[in-house]
Amino acid sequence: MRLPKFEHLQPESLEEALDLLSEHGEEVKVIAGGTDLLVSMKQRLFTPKYLLNLKGLAELDFIRDGNEGLRIGALTKLTTIIKSPLVREKFPVLAQAAGYVSAPPLQNMGTLGGNLCLNTRCFFYNQSQFWRQARPPCFKTGGEVCHVVKGGDHCYSVYQGDLAPVLIALEARVKLAKKGGRRVIPLLDLYTGQGEKPIALEAGEILTEVEIPAPAASWGGDYQKLRYRGAMDFPLVGVAAVLSQNEGGCAGAKVVLTAVASAPVVVEEASRLLEGQEPDEEIVARVAEAAYEVARPVANIGSTPLYRRKMVRVMTKRAITNAWGTE
Ligand SMILES: Cc1cc2nc3c(=O)[nH]c(=O)nc-3n(C[C@H](O)[C@H](O)[C@H](O)COP(=O)(O)OP(=O)(O)OC[C@H]3O[C@@H](n4cnc5c(N)ncnc54)[C@H](O)[C@@H]3O)c2cc1C
Ligand code: SF4
Repeated sequence: MRLPKFEHLQPESLEEALDLLSEHGEEVKVIAGGTDLLVSMKQRLFTPKYLLNLKGLAELDFIRDGNEGLRIGALTKLTTIIKSPLVREKFPVLAQAAGYVSAPPLQNMGTLGGNLCLNTRCFFYNQSQFWRQARPPCFKTGGEVCHVVKGGDHCYSVYQGDLAPVLIALEARVKLAKKGGRRVIPLLDLYTGQGEKPIALEAGEILTEVEIPAPAASWGGDYQKLRYRGAMDFPLVGVAAVLSQNEGGCAGAKVVLTAVASAPVVVEEASRLLEGQEPDEEIVARVAEAAYEVARPVANIGSTPLYRRKMVRVMTKRAITNAWGTE
């Protein structure tokens, strides 16, 4: 499959990039590592007139320690995150999850910003144009039908990024920039939960930086990922757990799921069940049950929804046990 024709824009500063984005509006798409976008373009899911390459923006490629936590630029490669002594020391669970993304060649190209801004996926969507032509367009491609949920009134495509659940569990914020405006939002708010338009970026806006606040003195985290081939696949289920500890037991807990809905899902019950407790077998089982309850996979990526949902239970137990054990 060949790429469609496009014009390549190569800004040398963030300001120039934002000017170009504002100038070209809907006709331009941002490319970082290109590991996801170029596949989608070959499949004619996107045929932008312009590709704006962020590669020249060295100002977005950094990992910095600060009083308020760690700051990571959007253009930082996954391999850099995996190998960074700062990340490995301060947030080992982030390096762990980045190491589970795809395979080393894609980690060498793929960036943090591209990972967080991943489009949602579906068996009926991530296909060549030729393949898709056999069916009428669905909600995600401008039609009025869903091929997965018969009678469904919206798109159920799945958010399958590996880093978002971990960073949401760490209460990360993201910096967004467009011409004439900057804003900082909790990472969780970047996700709309709508399969048709899953990322809450405004027109001409890009993600520039991730801020991870300094955690409690004693804490631990873990990320569990279910996938067909450990060597390269997207998650069928992913569970991130971050637990902090004090003399009274668990002082705070965040459990976040990926690959079970159109956005990462926070298991709200987890903190209520775990706080002030020692996470013994019974409590961990109750949190796992709460995670099972909020996970609503449908049959649009690999495996069956029932198996994926059952594995949410299993992965949640493992993630909590490991997070507690690493403290
Ligand atoms: C075979 C294969 C397996 C994969 N497995 C996994 C996996 O297991 N887990 C996983 O999480 N991902 C996986 N991916 C997806 C992808 O490789 C990674 O998520 C990677 O981190 C994406 O980063 P990128 O820089 O290449 O993004 P790109 O492809 O450049 O961009 C992805 C999207 O983000 C947008 N974008 C990029 N940067 C920004 C920015 N700074 N601001 C705003 N928008 C931006 C682009 O416009 C595009 O829509 C896989 C991909 C392939 C091809
Ligand atoms: S979930 Fe339904 S609407 Fe969404 S991409 Fe798949 S088939 Fe299309």
